[in-house]
Amino acid sequence: MVKVAHVQLSSCCGCLISLTDTYEKLLEILNSIELVYCQTLIDVREIKECDVALVEGSVCLEDHHALEVAKEVREKAKIVVALGACAAFGGLTRYCKGNQLPKPVNSSFSPLTEVIKVDYSIPGCPPSPEAIYSFIKALLNNDEAYLKPYKLLAEM
Ligand code: SF4
Repeated sequence: MVKVAHVQLSSCCGCLISLTDTYEKLLEILNSIELVYCQTLIDVREIKECDVALVEGSVCLEDHHALEVAKEVREKAKIVVALGACAAFGGLTRYCKGNQLPKPVNSSFSPLTEVIKVDYSIPGCPPSPEAIYSFIKALLNNDEAYLKPYKLLAEM
């Protein structure tokens, strides 16, 4: 079974909520994977070796632990997916770099894609439940044609 981790960095949890909003499709996904890490859904303290890591949220550059977690994900996951606009492009935190927010907030965050190599990026804030479901299905089915745009987004 494909081992999947869900990792949360600086995020609002909206991407995970969108994933759970797939309702019965979430059950279908959970029946076809082994969820090895998810701070919200299972009581596992450390990130395990896995096939796929879905990572939501941006990286707080002033938080040494967040940087370590990002590096650990890259070491332990064969495939890293930036789930949502924060992980993929910086999301809300990136748009706030123009001094709209107090300095300690606006200058401290980076998209995951600028901290570690990411294999796929799923845009959206949050990505729609359908988009997340279809992406995971394509990943499980190794549907390279479907996955290609997400790969290209990760390389931007
Ligand atoms: Fe929340 Fe949007 Fe960031 Fe997802 S992409 S963690 S929904 S702010």
